[in-house]
Amino acid sequence: MKFSGSHILSISQFDRGDIERVFEVADRMEPYAHRQRVTKVLDGAILGNMFFEPSTRTRVSFGCAFNLLGGEVRETTGFETSAIAKGESLYDTARVLSGYSDVIVMRHPVSGSVAEFAAASRVPVMNGGDGANEHPSQALLDLYTIRKELQHQGRSDLDGLRIAMIGDLKYGRTVHSLCKLLCLYRNVTVVLISPTELQMPGAIVEQLRSAGHTVVESDVMEGSISKVDIAYSTRIQEERFADRAEADLYRGRYRLNQAIYTRNCEPNTVIMHPLPRDSRSEANELDNDLNDNPNLAIFRQADNGVLVRMALFALILDVVDQVDKNARDVNWYTERRF
Ligand code: ASP
Repeated sequence: MKFSGSHILSISQFDRGDIERVFEVADRMEPYAHRQRVTKVLDGAILGNMFFEPSTRTRVSFGCAFNLLGGEVRETTGFETSAIAKGESLYDTARVLSGYSDVIVMRHPVSGSVAEFAAASRVPVMNGGDGANEHPSQALLDLYTIRKELQHQGRSDLDGLRIAMIGDLKYGRTVHSLCKLLCLYRNVTVVLISPTELQMPGAIVEQLRSAGHTVVESDVMEGSISKVDIAYSTRIQEERFADRAEADLYRGRYRLNQAIYTRNCEPNTVIMHPLPRDSRSEANELDNDLNDNPNLAIFRQADNGVLVRMALFALILDVVDQVDKNARDVNWYTERRF
């Protein structure tokens, strides 16, 4: 794909070469994200960070990525504080805000809304999550994490990957985008573990099978995670249910803790989660007793989000080759953080 000036709305826009390009640029961002070097390549540029649904990591890591490249961030959070609450259309909001920014990241509760917004925008728009539909930057950082974790184990290839996705696969947009992304690779085994009512949408399962992948669906976790490289847990997407009581029917069904891990998983199985993990006692998706397990990759995964989002900004705003020019070492204390 041509990155410069493009919207990033769906993971389906990428081919395998594009993914390699994003990952290669993300690797080059490490000295900046790891606070060894400072670059001002986006000095003067403005990111419009518009989040109309709750977010911590995605909003802050997009903002942090832009800041680390030297740009400034303007934020809108929630409907109540924006003119959308006064009846303004997405079209009008896009026409106006794209005059104030060089690039926009948007999260919105309605599937397809970010694409509608992008169609009216005068600047590139990135999808920070549109309802239950997609979360393309999360899928990229997830795959980047998978690749890095496997490299640490001495494996260089994503072909032949075995992954279990666990939890709310119906409404979880991160697993939707990740499955679409895995269709670009060969010979992948995807174990889909969810309550029957929250299964992965049929169209996505079909896409995986058409790509030649092995798909196994189950409603039980123990036993189903015994032969996987990655166990990817997800949260019950409470906000997509009619009410909390309905979400409570499923909450806590798949709890992974150290004892279950030891009993069921291979010694190197990597544990991932897009976060936030629901740590309330009635859910406890990933128990705190996993925190010392070296295969718990959830915080490395969140760190990787900054690298991947820096790469996307650098590619879309076409500054990859200028990032290192005029960079300098940091002059404050940064040891032991990464
Ligand atoms: N943070 C992810 C998302 O926005 C996952 C989640 O919320 O459960 O989709």
